Amino acid sequence: MFFSPVSYHQPVFRPPGEANSVIIQATLGCSWNACSFCEMYTSKTFKVRNPAEVFADIQKLSQHNAGAKKIFLADGNAFVLSSKKLMALLDQINTSFGRIQRVSSYALPKDISNKSLSELQELQSQGLKLLYIGIETGDDELLKLINKSETYNSTVDGILKAQQAGIDTSIMILNGIGGKEYSEQHALNSAKIINEINPKFLSTLTLSLPYGLEHFQNKFKGNYQQQSITELYKELKLFIEKTKVDNVIYRSDHVSNNLILKGILSKDNDKLVSTIEKAIANTSENQYPSAPEVL
Ligand code: SF4
Repeated sequence: MFFSPVSYHQPVFRPPGEANSVIIQATLGCSWNACSFCEMYTSKTFKVRNPAEVFADIQKLSQHNAGAKKIFLADGNAFVLSSKKLMALLDQINTSFGRIQRVSSYALPKDISNKSLSELQELQSQGLKLLYIGIETGDDELLKLINKSETYNSTVDGILKAQQAGIDTSIMILNGIGGKEYSEQHALNSAKIINEINPKFLSTLTLSLPYGLEHFQNKFKGNYQQQSITELYKELKLFIEKTKVDNVIYRSDHVSNNLILKGILSKDNDKLVSTIEKAIANTSENQYPSAPEVL
């Protein structure tokens, strides 16, 4: 059974790539907590944890994880913390854990833009090497309909600023977020934004509806019609076809995905497209994603 020397405030989420990382809960919940498709932190009120409590956790976790290489700062967007608070956290982490490879966290583009370039560079030099950013789509209309609180331009500005400071970015796009009606503009503008930012990592997840279709339709501010699995694949295919980037490590291997894809964009674009075409050919037109269990 998994033992942790600290008591986490549940639920705790982390990206798949942080499965072996030490998780330090610097904040609780998400400071925005209002995206129409996201139920991750609806049971939590956003809170910045008392630094003394976080430092005590760091102390205990460092004693039980000697030699740890990676640390993930939870919850939803710990990068919302001021640069001063983040620097104090990184100082404490570096003192307690010694040399680690990287510290990472989820971030909204505005969490990045609110910091100066020199602050970002300082955070990077103290170990903050990677930010996970769920941009979901590059389409401005859809960003409004899902209440994301970001635009195409604010997203590009934040991400390019992080990258300019030497911080790598891992970007998430949400297949199916626009339903049938917004599918094409979602695929095209998502490819456009990825081409502009050229992140180090890119993943596509698929919209899941833990509380059912109607619940989501009531929160989506437009006409949401669920796509069949074939339609989801076609959207993904168009997105990959239009993506023209250099050496982006691409994964579609989240539990929400019906089709597992892995490759380097743009080197593997043709191979990925051909895998999607085969999946389309082998899937019935009327097959819809099965409803997951209610949370
Ligand atoms: S910003 Fe992220 S964690 Fe917060 S509500 Fe939106 S998707 Fe969920």
